[in-house]
Amino acid sequence: MKSHVKAVVIGGGVVGCSVLYHLARAGWTDIMLIERSELTSGSSWHAAGGFHTLNGDPNVAKLQAYTVQLYKELEEISGQSCSLHLTGGVMMADTPERMDFLRLVHAKGRYLGMDTELITPSEAKAMYPLMDETNFVGAMWDPVEGHLDPSGTTHAYAKAAKKLGAEIVLRNRVVELTQEVDGTWNVITEQGTVKAEHVVNCGGLWAREVGRMVGVELPLLAMEHMYLLTEPMPEVEEFNARTGREMVGVLDFKGEIYTRQERNGVLLGTYEKACKPWSPVETPWNFGHELLQPDIDRIAPSLEIGFKHFPGIEKAGIKQIINGPFTFAPDGNPLVGPVQGLTNFWCACAVMAGFSQGGGVGLALSNWMVNGDPGFDVWGMDVARWGEWAGLRYTNAKVRENYSRRFSIRFPNEELPGARPAQTTPLYDTMLAQNAVMGDSWGLETPLWFAPEGTEPKDKVSFHRSNDFGPIGEEVRATRERVGVTEIANFAKYEVSGTGAEDFLNRLMTNRMPKTGRIVLTPMLNEFGKLIGDFTIAKTGAEKFMIWGSSAAQKYHMRWFEKHLPKDGSVRIHRFDQTLVGLSIAGPKSQALLRKLVDVDVSTKAFRFMDFREMAVGGAPCMVNRITYTGDLGYEIWMAPAYQRLVYKAIKDAGEEFGIVDFGMRALLSMRLEKNFPTWFRELRPIYGVFEGGMDRFIKLEKNDFVGREAAAKEKAEGGKLRRVSLIVDALDADVMGDEPIWAKVSKDYGTVGKTHDFGAPRFDAKGKEARGSTAATGASAVRGVTDGEWRVVGWVTSGGYAHYVQKSMAQGYVPAALAEDESEGLFEIEILGHRRPARINVEAPFDPTGEKMRG
Ligand SMILES: Cc1cc2nc3c(=O)[nH]c(=O)nc-3n(C[C@H](O)[C@H](O)[C@H](O)COP(=O)(O)OP(=O)(O)OC[C@H]3O[C@@H](n4cnc5c(N)ncnc54)[C@H](O)[C@@H]3O)c2cc1C
Repeated sequence: MKSHVKAVVIGGGVVGCSVLYHLARAGWTDIMLIERSELTSGSSWHAAGGFHTLNGDPNVAKLQAYTVQLYKELEEISGQSCSLHLTGGVMMADTPERMDFLRLVHAKGRYLGMDTELITPSEAKAMYPLMDETNFVGAMWDPVEGHLDPSGTTHAYAKAAKKLGAEIVLRNRVVELTQEVDGTWNVITEQGTVKAEHVVNCGGLWAREVGRMVGVELPLLAMEHMYLLTEPMPEVEEFNARTGREMVGVLDFKGEIYTRQERNGVLLGTYEKACKPWSPVETPWNFGHELLQPDIDRIAPSLEIGFKHFPGIEKAGIKQIINGPFTFAPDGNPLVGPVQGLTNFWCACAVMAGFSQGGGVGLALSNWMVNGDPGFDVWGMDVARWGEWAGLRYTNAKVRENYSRRFSIRFPNEELPGARPAQTTPLYDTMLAQNAVMGDSWGLETPLWFAPEGTEPKDKVSFHRSNDFGPIGEEVRATRERVGVTEIANFAKYEVSGTGAEDFLNRLMTNRMPKTGRIVLTPMLNEFGKLIGDFTIAKTGAEKFMIWGSSAAQKYHMRWFEKHLPKDGSVRIHRFDQTLVGLSIAGPKSQALLRKLVDVDVSTKAFRFMDFREMAVGGAPCMVNRITYTGDLGYEIWMAPAYQRLVYKAIKDAGEEFGIVDFGMRALLSMRLEKNFPTWFRELRPIYGVFEGGMDRFIKLEKNDFVGREAAAKEKAEGGKLRRVSLIVDALDADVMGDEPIWAKVSKDYGTVGKTHDFGAPRFDAKGKEARGSTAATGASAVRGVTDGEWRVVGWVTSGGYAHYVQKSMAQGYVPAALAEDESEGLFEIEILGHRRPARINVEAPFDPTGEKMRG
């Protein structure tokens, strides 16, 4: 065993071996994987080995597609077979709602370059004859699905990494991790200490314990999971003989079941409602290549439905039931990346689908370690997406919720109840008393909308417009015509201070820093000129700045700030989180209202648009920004939590004469739509350039050198491929939700959408012939640049909804730059729930396009 290496990877499951291979492939060969036992000694050895590309997050879906594509390369390099069976698979819908869900997934696949296809239950039965198709209303075919040998695949990664020069040490547990002053890690193992620049936690079932070695409580939990294997089945053998094919994989939402052929029988697994965590507090180190006791009673309800839906299986004898644990994060996606607050300590854990995601995780993490950037938009699996509130108990409740809902539909207006409320502001009870429907905003309870008196404050979950539509309209109109108040505690807030503060911010931000008492809006870029932040910054004193941003990105941004902090101590950063809360008042009467609450001059002349001032509001010390995200005349008022009730009451009392209303987050988001304002994580993400994102006004290339300046200048010179646009949609009773494809009637291929993989299983009919699907008819081929009439998928929706004041359904999204200013009717269509609806680009904001009202 070497005593010094560049990086140590802890854990020899499929994820650790993939990370090792990808690091070696990227040129880091002075690396070592340390495994406590043999390779695959955690959850990897007893996995069912299934893989697929579909994921709710399109960016994670792309990395899954990469994983599947990688296996052939891996077999060639390692000489080790992964026993790939690329069968393709079908997802079965038993209700119209689930069919709507499949339509959404299918539509999303168009710009991701996936060749999914909507098919009939009979067509699905032709590929998996054990089902009773009368239980279903429709299905979706995905050619990039299949199964493999988990152990062979893990060893293939390991062999390929070794061929490239990586070292693997077996039967040696890492027992402790310490760090020297110069940042070097001491990886203390049973066989001695290894010094390393970087440490990667791929501890799988023990990732929590490895995290604890460095004082970090990672939000992950292992769950017991069962699948059964049947005896050989004559129906399966007959099907194979008749068609010359293997049966496809099937996912049955209603039964919470996945099933596929395994040898000449069937494998059937369940994500049962009555799920069970395994080792909820601590994973025993002596757990080895063992299986857990099967508990047939727990999965009986799923099996009952399964046998009804797949009567062919009921008759078969059960050969074996496998019960094994594997880990999940609260939302079911992996935890990847550098851990905020530590240097060179990386994570690749909570990978619940190691054989779909392991390759993508390895690629993203190795890019990140070697090049300083993951190279993709990996927010959906970034370890920084969880806050301190995601502790053991939170994680336990959320993982159980997520597991039991694995095959449930998540509606766009659905807030899940698990582990709530986690954090509340002092106004929580007041908001509930006012019939607020609350949502979870990065662990904080936040009012979404207010249900009318006498009605239940609850969303009717739907893909269509729902019971919040009317009340949100009322909130918007009252705010736009009079004045409204809303809670904004769910913003991120930081103070940056010290002699180096201004230089530090000028180095990180694209805009010039403001003068004292003024505010600027500014994006933040990475070295590649991509958007990694969007902030409001006020200069609050000689060497002091307040920064407001997206609450969900707090750890993500702190990690970046800390990475760039000067070593001389000249800059300090304080993250307030919920020690600073806020209220926003907006609307034409908001200035008159503020006047009643303060003892200073807040006329437009004395307190201009984009001014910052400290003042007492209703007697409480506050910071006030003269801006609002509604795009109207308005103010953001920030105070310590102890004052929030006082300020709120003062606002409501003084606002009575103006007819003040409370409005929630959904009204705020509706109002920003009619101003064409983007949102962070939707329109603004690390895959877009600053010009693509339409943030030109906030970038000052000439001011000084800043991170990403060179790349941004290049983007400006070359024009960028995409452009963020705002569209007005001729919607029916459903508005866009995000991720819908944007079609355009064009004759040119703009190359903005495309295939992410180049192989998949062909669909076939009952005789085993390749079936000509409905691909041409549905236009799925358009993503390959093949014409479908003149309509092609050219872009995608990032977010949208109904803009209540201007009474239009609106969408924002990305299209080729060349089309971004073409406001012609009939040029665009957006596919909503299977219907292509006409849409028109709207360059000017429909509400207050000149900003007259906003400036007051
Ligand atoms: C019943 C079942 C069915 C499944 N089916 C599928 C499926 O069909 N498709 C799919 O994609 N996934 C499936 N999975 C999930 C899959 O198994 C996991 O996603 C995958 O194994 C995670 O791999 P890993 O490398 O992160 O963790 P693990 O496999 O748990 O590996 C972690 C490794 O780290 C080692 N280690 C930990 N701490 C230390 C230390 N301190 N020192 C040294 N070594 C250490 C352990 O010994 C272990 O070998 C299934 C899981 C189960 C249980």
